[in-house]
Amino acid sequence: MSTPPSTARVAVVTGASSGIGAASARALAAAGFHVVLGARRMDRLEQVAAETGGTALPLDVTDDASVEAFAAAIDAGPGRCDLLVNNAGGALGTESVAEADLADWQRMYDINVLGTVRVTKALLPRLIASGDGQVITIGSIAGREPYKGGAGYNAAKHAEAALTRVLRLELLGQPVRVSEIDPGMVHTDFSLVRFKGDQERADAVYAGVEPLTAEDVAETVAWIATRPAHVNVDQVLLMPRDQAAAQVVHRREV
Ligand code: NAP
Repeated sequence: MSTPPSTARVAVVTGASSGIGAASARALAAAGFHVVLGARRMDRLEQVAAETGGTALPLDVTDDASVEAFAAAIDAGPGRCDLLVNNAGGALGTESVAEADLADWQRMYDINVLGTVRVTKALLPRLIASGDGQVITIGSIAGREPYKGGAGYNAAKHAEAALTRVLRLELLGQPVRVSEIDPGMVHTDFSLVRFKGDQERADAVYAGVEPLTAEDVAETVAWIATRPAHVNVDQVLLMPRDQAAAQVVHRREV
């Protein structure tokens, strides 16, 4: 763990142990932020912290006490928060509504929706106090467009989009910008998590397609974070050229 220079703006990234979160931490560090990284897998988090000169802190966004301790550690360490990237999230399963696994639905709601509210609520006073705060939430094409087999994740990401857009309305007049990035297919551990470790099913999602990389999304995070204070990028839908809608995908022979 390193201490940021007193003048560095501090960016907090949830779910920074892999994929889009880790890439965003790297991009924000390169843009001059001191990054505070939160996730459950501390070994991976420490690696990203070492690469970025950031601060790794344990975080389970589904747990009140964990989020409270996370916020307290930010106060005790970097001592400020200028940007929050709500990235922790993901999908579980592709069952139809008829076959819905309610435990998976509950978990997706807990991480993507309640997790985002919990961390945002905890850090909002620091973001306002910064005088130029920013919240960037990683939503999904799944939060704009329902698709077969996606209902549980669609519901969670639609809810996350709703709370982000309400936050934008409610913070009008406060010095805090609110943005939403909705990516299409990104090649990360997302599908491996969704298919509960089944590598073959996860690989099939990306077969013959050139998906986005975590770095593509991270560049967008860094771009939004470095606009002038009067510019609020409300929503970005970021898709691979090979994907024109949630389930409309161009695949080459493999
Ligand atoms: P990923 O590589 O699986 O990363 C998910 C991250 O979330 C991990 O760092 C994980 O860290 C963290 N996380 C999960 N549960 C958590 C919890 N309870 N508390 C704290 N952190 C938690 O997948 P990704 O693609 O980068 O996903 C990042 C975000 O992008 C998610 O919100 C996802 O819904 C969204 N997204 C992904 C895609 C895609 O195709 N990949 C497309 C659109 C949107 P730990 O396990 O170490 O806690």
